[in-house]
Amino acid sequence: MIELLDLHYHYRDGPRLSFADLSAPAGSTLLVRGSSGAGKSTLLALMAGLLTPTAGQVRVGGVDVGAMSPRQRDAWRGAHLGFVPQRLHLSAALSVADNLALPYVCAGESVQPARIAELLERLGLQGLAARRPHQLSVGQAQRVALARAVLRGPSLLLADEPTASLDDEAAAEALRLLTELAALSRATLVLATHDARVSQALPGAQLLQLNKAPT
Ligand code: ADP
Ligand code: MG
Repeated sequence: MIELLDLHYHYRDGPRLSFADLSAPAGSTLLVRGSSGAGKSTLLALMAGLLTPTAGQVRVGGVDVGAMSPRQRDAWRGAHLGFVPQRLHLSAALSVADNLALPYVCAGESVQPARIAELLERLGLQGLAARRPHQLSVGQAQRVALARAVLRGPSLLLADEPTASLDDEAAAEALRLLTELAALSRATLVLATHDARVSQALPGAQLLQLNKAPT
């Protein structure tokens, strides 16, 4: 369950963004729509605890994300959050398999090769484990980022413009995999997009329309 309560974020020397109150039940899909600059990525960063609200709250599973200490937030993110950022942030120096080992290492847990292999297979990436990110197609790299996001069974899965650089077929596949993997870990799925194909593909999703802040 995710709730926005009187949420505002003011960039220093930038726009003052306000977000309408919202409640999305656990396991549901929320579509954050709006033109470029409307605040979609900012909202995802607030949901991920990467930015702290100027005022108001983001509550995830009843927890006020902005009220946690940086250390608590890191632990919370590791345990509950899967994030597929717009720029995928795969490590160029590491193989696909090592990119997928990284979340375990960061969490101080032992790497689970069987889980990594299972996800690679499910995402049609078997055989690519030894490749580096630059040896992947855009769609493949995005599926690796998706695997990394769901590896540890998040309760909240955020994806920023997941279809932006994909053709129709790859975009449909990315959305199918996102919803399938979110359902498997019973995660609430939040997609930020200005791509009309996404709303069409997910007719049952709750919509949050952001309007551009006056400048
Ligand atoms: P979207 O993802 O919908 O395109 P963003 O959340 O990236 O929108 O940005 C919302 C607004 O905030 C835009 O006007 C953008 O220029 C501004 N903005 C984003 N990041 C910063 C920043 N670090 N400093 C100042 N303004 C920013
Ligand atoms: Mg954005």
